[in-house]
Amino acid sequence: MPKTLIRNGAIVNAHQSQKADVLIDGEKIHGIGAFPDEVADRIIDATGMLVMPGGIDAHTHLDMPFGGTTSSDDFETGTRAAAMGGTTTIVDFAIQPKGTKMRDALDTWWKKAENKACVDYGLHMIVTDLGDAGLEDMDSLVDEGVASFKLFMAYPGVLMVDDATIFKAMSQTAKNGALICMHAENGGVIDVIVQRALAEGKTAPIYHALTRPTIAEAEAVHRAIALAEMAGAPVYIVHLSSEDALNQVREARDRGLPAFAETCPQYLLLSIEKLALPDFEGAKYVFTPPLREKENLPKLWDGLKHDHLQVVSTDHCPFCFEDQKILGKDSFAKIPNGGPGIENRLQLMHHHGVNAGKLTINRFVEIVSTTPARIFGMYPKKGVIAAGSDADIVIWDPEAEHLISAKTHHMRVDYSMFEGFRVMGNAKTVLSRGVVIVDGGAFVGKAGRGQYLRRAARGGAWK
Ligand SMILES: [Zn+2]
Repeated sequence: MPKTLIRNGAIVNAHQSQKADVLIDGEKIHGIGAFPDEVADRIIDATGMLVMPGGIDAHTHLDMPFGGTTSSDDFETGTRAAAMGGTTTIVDFAIQPKGTKMRDALDTWWKKAENKACVDYGLHMIVTDLGDAGLEDMDSLVDEGVASFKLFMAYPGVLMVDDATIFKAMSQTAKNGALICMHAENGGVIDVIVQRALAEGKTAPIYHALTRPTIAEAEAVHRAIALAEMAGAPVYIVHLSSEDALNQVREARDRGLPAFAETCPQYLLLSIEKLALPDFEGAKYVFTPPLREKENLPKLWDGLKHDHLQVVSTDHCPFCFEDQKILGKDSFAKIPNGGPGIENRLQLMHHHGVNAGKLTINRFVEIVSTTPARIFGMYPKKGVIAAGSDADIVIWDPEAEHLISAKTHHMRVDYSMFEGFRVMGNAKTVLSRGVVIVDGGAFVGKAGRGQYLRRAARGGAWK
């Protein structure tokens, strides 16, 4: 197996930073220390660079059907864009259509990804129907490495499940060690507010945000945590967007409950005004939960700093403005929900977190890589630079200037939510299991090389 030596870089892990070389043997990290040139077939000079574990995006939606269309990135374009931004692992979502077996949905998503993925990928399963055999179905998925399930408290009639279903699923994970991920919004109440708004002729994108109050999120977060407590299982709140919701997670954690939550760059950096942009441009920022009032942003940053929030993922779910978002031009309720971001997560969190003094570089690595690896059953294979781990490595140039723009990004979508954002810090060279897939900012990887990750149950949320 070819050996690669990364020299002269500063290794940054969640627990510490150190100046040392990294020796890679085949797909794995052989060791950290000082090595003579002769041991390696290839030497990468990382002088002035940070050497970090590859980013892990635990929340993406590639090639996903929604509202009569499909998210515009597939597993090839989406994972290529991810790699360009320093992300070497994603966990995407398979969806169980109502009345079908989860196992069939897993096969469907495997087919979407195989021969396409450029980086390794895991899958969560979205449960829409537990039916008669659903609970055993969950156990068999855990055996296939699907160690997490997502349930929706929103989107009645489409994805929403009732409290009894949530409680049953959580009770099953209490036995099989999987983790329930929750989309926490009170979908029933929101639906009533949405129908009222539409009846009053309020159809513009801004009403997407105005019909989804933060208290509807906080109520659902509270309920999700209470159901998990009764079931004796941990719970992970996806895309937490508001201070009201954050308070619920913090209070639960202060009581010692295994409640976890992620947020996303859009909730940390953008606010509700975006949805009021003229010429239907607000539709570019229609996703769920919606962007909130500005006052929430510093609270979320604070939550990240103090570990009330543990993870930053993207909820990458791109729809093109020209031919997809436009489906909702007469009604905000028909705008495909989602926005792009898989490429920009590390850039934005490094610049607005680390450079701005809100996060240490180690905490940055922890929230974008190490903690998602732990919580979702991939650690220490992923999420750390250590002997024996996969050589998923980002050589990060902390001083590279980068202008985020749809003109230059690699995501297959015709706009950027962060158009015009200037950041300092970007991925220079990226390795996936020992192979260079981004070299000096150019993609040199191959579609189909990414492997399905069998994730372990009883991950970090259980400890
Ligand atoms: Zn999502």
